[in-house]
Amino acid sequence: MEWTLNRSETLQVLQCMGIELPADTKLLDDVLEKRLRDALNAAQYKDRLPSPFDISDLSPWPAPKSAERRSLFDAVQRGSFQESRQIFAKKLAGGSAVPELYVDPFTDLRQTMMGIGKWLDQGLRWCVLQDREREHCAVNMRILDILEVDEKTPAIVVLYRSFDKSTAEIGINWLKEQVATNPPEIGKALLNVNATPLEQRLLLKLLAWNASLVPSSYEVERRHGEESFKVSVLLPIGPLEYNALSKLNANQGCAVCGKRAASRCAGCHSISYCGQGAPPYLPSPLKPRNKLTFSFYFAACQRAHWPEHKATCRSLKGGTWRTVRLRTSVPGMEGMYMAHFNNRTSTAFGLQGGGGKPTFQQVDESAPPPPNVYGDRPFLVKLQIGLGGSGMAENMMVYDRKRTAQAFVCLEDDAWAFGELVKEMKGPRGGHGGVKMYRWARRVSDWELSVCLDRAPGAAETRW
Ligand SMILES: [Zn+2]
Ligand SMILES: [Zn+2]
Repeated sequence: MEWTLNRSETLQVLQCMGIELPADTKLLDDVLEKRLRDALNAAQYKDRLPSPFDISDLSPWPAPKSAERRSLFDAVQRGSFQESRQIFAKKLAGGSAVPELYVDPFTDLRQTMMGIGKWLDQGLRWCVLQDREREHCAVNMRILDILEVDEKTPAIVVLYRSFDKSTAEIGINWLKEQVATNPPEIGKALLNVNATPLEQRLLLKLLAWNASLVPSSYEVERRHGEESFKVSVLLPIGPLEYNALSKLNANQGCAVCGKRAASRCAGCHSISYCGQGAPPYLPSPLKPRNKLTFSFYFAACQRAHWPEHKATCRSLKGGTWRTVRLRTSVPGMEGMYMAHFNNRTSTAFGLQGGGGKPTFQQVDESAPPPPNVYGDRPFLVKLQIGLGGSGMAENMMVYDRKRTAQAFVCLEDDAWAFGELVKEMKGPRGGHGGVKMYRWARRVSDWELSVCLDRAPGAAETRW
């Protein structure tokens, strides 16, 4: 069994974490791998660990049965305001607040961490992750130490090994020996977590990378059968925050060769290439005068890509762009509790009420602008009409596919621009019953969005 993630799996995991790269991205394998590593580090909030971070400096987490005990189930969880809002909405609708499992390997991994936390609270010190059929692969894990980084952050030192069909017997024997160590109140239970092969490989990647947090001086007492087990550390895992998302979404690489991007297409700014260059219709000084200068000014990758790119490039360039003002709430509703902004800030840090329960941030005068993870690149937005008290369109919600930024465009800020958007929405390029439309947009300032009014993006790009 190959204990690694292939390109499409890496892209899938990144996408689940909010990092969207085209399915046919040309980013090189090692660049993608590094992107995943950085993303996993960000999901463990490693930049908030004490520096230098040395687990031998940490004191033990209070024992589960002691007076100072703190729930590890609570401590390994990191949610965001956005998630809290989604869960709240689901509960209101009478649904289950538990996310659907086995679809998104990143969510699965976070659920597994919660499962482990639950068992640790009961005083258990081992577990096994297995695929649902229990026949393809497994990760056996024993907890060596639970250490305290701070009051809300445990560092769990584990000894682990993966097994496949050919080594299953060794794995099963180890499990039998662990069952015998269960506390009497648990009995002979097998502490099994269902985990897809992809989730297991993701966990193994994370553990391999986290192994560097264990100093070579750390002493491990190995039990029978644990000779080839490895040592690593588990930290709480949660959604990526805006800073990390914006960094990890930034460099998409040259659209052709995947090398580091040096410039964007000067015509539309929507695509990057490794060399310098300009599309042929641009005015001087970059305008090529003949075939020779065409090759000279137009870097190789960009030249190769031009036949494919020119339609998008020209349509973006020729479009009518309108700048609209953004708001974080609808006029008249400013006092409402909103959770749209900073909603990827982890609830474990700041902005938090007592008892570890998230509280929604109240929008006020000093509310931060909607986050910008795109820089000045164009991105697709969905504009959706909202009706005012009079039944007239008075505002529209605007958000991107990742819902990293959600804001409102309001009639009262600029009736003319608002009217143009509504007209476009109800016109032949609008569709969707005249109540919503997809458009290219570009952030021009914290509070302003430029929308390409009269160019409808392709159908393939607008299914969300
Ligand atoms: Zn290139
Ligand atoms: Zn272009």
